[in-house]
Amino acid sequence: MSIAGGIAKAAENVVSMEANTMQIFSRNPRGSGYKTYSRKEMDAFQEIRSSHRFGPLLAHAPYTMNLASEKEEVYTFACMVIREDIARMDDLGIEMLVFHPGSHTGIGVKKGIENIIAGLDQAITGQEQITVLLETMSGKGTEIGASFEELKAIRDGVKHPERIGICLDTCHVFAAGYDIVHDLDGVLAEFDRVLGLKLLRAIHFNDSMMPFASRKDRHATIGDGMIGCKALMEVIQHPALKELPFYLETPLDDAGHKQEIERIRKEIGES
Ligand code: FE
Ligand code: FE
Ligand code: ZN
Repeated sequence: MSIAGGIAKAAENVVSMEANTMQIFSRNPRGSGYKTYSRKEMDAFQEIRSSHRFGPLLAHAPYTMNLASEKEEVYTFACMVIREDIARMDDLGIEMLVFHPGSHTGIGVKKGIENIIAGLDQAITGQEQITVLLETMSGKGTEIGASFEELKAIRDGVKHPERIGICLDTCHVFAAGYDIVHDLDGVLAEFDRVLGLKLLRAIHFNDSMMPFASRKDRHATIGDGMIGCKALMEVIQHPALKELPFYLETPLDDAGHKQEIERIRKEIGES
């Protein structure tokens, strides 16, 4: 969700759509600017989140950040953003920050992963409370992180792996070729084998406009894509996942999200 109107306003919005947590951008998702919040606004925000018992909050790093890049300006920028945003979000008391591992743009997965590891090592002190989440990616272009093994290699390489978790995006894993429609248990068993299910901290809950294993990243509203309502309801109710926070990234405005949440709750018999 956009926090252009301020973080307290965004939290009020969450309450009005009967949700109980939110994902915000840690700064302008397509640029580099960010807002700072006054003490007063932060107090208002904390008050809303505690009185409404929000689940863990998730901040999303900008899409313009590529920590796998070999290009000096791109890499320096990415290192600065991840370092600042881990510290800023940690200060705000936000529990998790998720980022797209990056695209190697031709230097190869191995070199790309080395760059990501070095980028994380200059950003994470080990003293933070916040958990940094690697997102499962669709594998479009030269994107890193479309396989659980690549995410595992990143986590294993850093100095503070205890600060790293995983955010599973349902649209991305489906597009990457993990068949959550016909074999959700198999995919979760594979995740557990490679990474360990205890590292799974958040779900990006999206349908996919693009077919299975297409390696294309286009989110659809819940039930209107190639994953479909039935499979997505199995995801949200799966015993291994149902305690996790779920964040919608579907192409809807606030009013649309409110209805989507209502529909999901009905489907799973929560209302
Ligand atoms: Fe993302
Ligand atoms: Fe996502
Ligand atoms: Zn996506």
